[in-house]
Amino acid sequence: MNADVVILGAGPTGCALGTYLRRRGASVTLVEAVERPESVVGESMLPCSSLVFEECGLDMSRYMVKHGAVFCRNGEGVRFDFSEAEAPQWTYAWQVQREVFDLQWREVARQAGCRLVFAKALDVDVDQGRLSTSEGDLFGDRIIDAGGRQMWLSSKLRLRAGDQNLRNSAVGTRYSGVKSVGIDQPGDITICSIPAGWIWIIPFGGGLASVGVVMTPNCALKGTSEERLLGAIAMSPDAQARLDGATRVLPHRGLQDFTATSSTFYGDKFALCGDAATFIDPVFSSGVLLGLHGARGLAAALDGGDLAAWENEYREGASVFRKVIDHWYADDFMTLALVPAQYQKPYIRRGIVSLLAGDVFDPAKKSPRSMADRMPHLAALVRTHGLLPSADGHA
Ligand SMILES: Cc1cc2nc3c(=O)[nH]c(=O)nc-3n(C[C@H](O)[C@H](O)[C@H](O)COP(=O)(O)OP(=O)(O)OC[C@H]3O[C@@H](n4cnc5c(N)ncnc54)[C@H](O)[C@@H]3O)c2cc1C
Repeated sequence: MNADVVILGAGPTGCALGTYLRRRGASVTLVEAVERPESVVGESMLPCSSLVFEECGLDMSRYMVKHGAVFCRNGEGVRFDFSEAEAPQWTYAWQVQREVFDLQWREVARQAGCRLVFAKALDVDVDQGRLSTSEGDLFGDRIIDAGGRQMWLSSKLRLRAGDQNLRNSAVGTRYSGVKSVGIDQPGDITICSIPAGWIWIIPFGGGLASVGVVMTPNCALKGTSEERLLGAIAMSPDAQARLDGATRVLPHRGLQDFTATSSTFYGDKFALCGDAATFIDPVFSSGVLLGLHGARGLAAALDGGDLAAWENEYREGASVFRKVIDHWYADDFMTLALVPAQYQKPYIRRGIVSLLAGDVFDPAKKSPRSMADRMPHLAALVRTHGLLPSADGHA
């Protein structure tokens, strides 16, 4: 591939894209504003990201292994193990501290031959292939925004549309002294449902964990970031049990209104990838997976492939998660998940776990899509009859 590509953002998406493009012969410049990556959200990986980790040669041995996810509410909980997915290729993932993970990605991209320029993107002329930065102008046959949730290029080109149904906010931090309790296996992510929101606990090992809350606009929690996170923990006996005696070790960080998508992901001289193209709510930890798979597909599409087919596949994968996120906020997910063990059905667990593993791009895997479509109906059956059909007509 004989092209000069300028990629804005050396996060996981930008670095994976740069690595794949270099291997196809493109010359790649990555433009990154922040020299030392910060401890940002986006720490819980999904098993299906392993395809990209393996292809790009990322050594994941330093991270906490994650075998599953625990969902709980008011002292009731359920654990899903990734080995229960439909024909799983990977049965575990990792919990990553982003200040380490992002540096590792940059090194992988550098070793693949990408040029990394530390500069802030300030302006762009897509038709001229010019990105103006704090360190001067950069030129490319194509400019790709992988610069994250800010959706810089998408906003400039007036392609960005917020999601009116998901205007959530979040507060995150880290704690030390966090415990595993009850059904937790070491390394599991725990999601604690609270009224109009949910809490995440992502363990890194040795008691250190990322802890945060996502709140819908209806959430009663008000005040400073600290007050809202502490208020959320006070609402959840499940979070309290895990955080009992734990100490906060980072400042609180607030985020808001982060769900949005772009009306198109590419043009003649630009493309958008990762959060810069589309970002959906983080309850199923799908962000990094979507960015990495998007990057893998975009590199192939730019190298003589089909950009329209790439965008289509990318949107379809994201839309499976988007549907289940609506089911989460309608309480259908928790209604199904918390069905007592004796009434649980293997096909439902298989569908849920395949979603949690991120298996949304393989059309041969029917159960995640089927579960995304049928969840409201199945949850209604549980609410009305307390029972579920014993066989899945779809999977
Ligand atoms: C509350 C919350 C919790 C989340 N939890 C998870 C989770 O558990 N698991 C998961 O997979 N995802 C999670 N996500 C999503 C995840 O953070 C993102 O999907 C992921 O980081 C996207 O990677 P990216 O490379 O596309 O963008 P980013 O990681 O945002 O990287 C973008 C890079 O571009 C750089 N940049 C930005 N603007 C400029 C500029 N103007 N000039 C130069 N450089 C620039 C930034 O410094 C950064 O390094 C969560 C998101 C939220 C809001």
